[in-house]
Amino acid sequence: MAAMINFKINGKNIEAPAGTTVLEAARKEDIYIPTLCCLEALEPEGTCRLCIAEMSGAIRQSIRITCLQEVKEGLIVETETERIKKNRRLILELLLGRSPYSKELLDLAARNGVMTSRFLTGEQDDCIRCGRCVRVCRDKIGAYALCWVNRGYERKVTTDFERLSEYCIGCGSCAQVCPTGAIKMEDRGQERKLYTWGQVLARFKLEKCQECGRPFATKKYLEWMKQRAYKHKGLDVVDIKCPECVRKAERPVPLAVPLSQGPFQMW
Ligand code: SF4
Repeated sequence: MAAMINFKINGKNIEAPAGTTVLEAARKEDIYIPTLCCLEALEPEGTCRLCIAEMSGAIRQSIRITCLQEVKEGLIVETETERIKKNRRLILELLLGRSPYSKELLDLAARNGVMTSRFLTGEQDDCIRCGRCVRVCRDKIGAYALCWVNRGYERKVTTDFERLSEYCIGCGSCAQVCPTGAIKMEDRGQERKLYTWGQVLARFKLEKCQECGRPFATKKYLEWMKQRAYKHKGLDVVDIKCPECVRKAERPVPLAVPLSQGPFQMW
């Protein structure tokens, strides 16, 4: 069992197991720390910088990212100082410059007192470089279809050699976790398309439901689901049915997972 660590957030005494991050400990205590890139299902990467806090005590006094900082005995964390609020507002303005119409981002900005941005250039591509899509594709799906290219302002998410991805399975998880809608998944007739502002990432022909005949999932995604069902639950899936038909039949087979919830239920 992990040793328990005692530290403070905003003056409140907190006890958390060693190895816990400050953000995790704060969430357990219902202490609000904003973040965009951090999802519980994904390993933290500290890309959005919104979860900053002033820290001292066990470490040199500095501003650090709470999603990457592990708790330490005697650590003192302050999440709402004027310095933190000012830096957070600047970060939100910069993010809004990239994605001025995202509801998740606008809500977060409003909650932190930011109603507009000085950095609206009209060159937005909606991507705030949080990396959720890259991480979910790599760490949860295991497809490695998305990657980063370039540095600084030119940094962006794309596919290998910026071509249609041969590794993408068309699961749509990247589009689901994107907080700004920068990656989109569109089904038209029998075709599924994954795309961003400037690039089509992948295209697929959709497989039809054996029951109702509706095109609903890619062949690669169904293969992926079958392998997961066999590996994790010992189930040999033979039915290819859309979520609606499975739901109607009320049979708990793995392909009952709605695509809108996608593979998350398997994690
Ligand atoms: S749709 Fe393709 S790129 Fe997006 S998470 Fe799934 S495999 Fe990765």
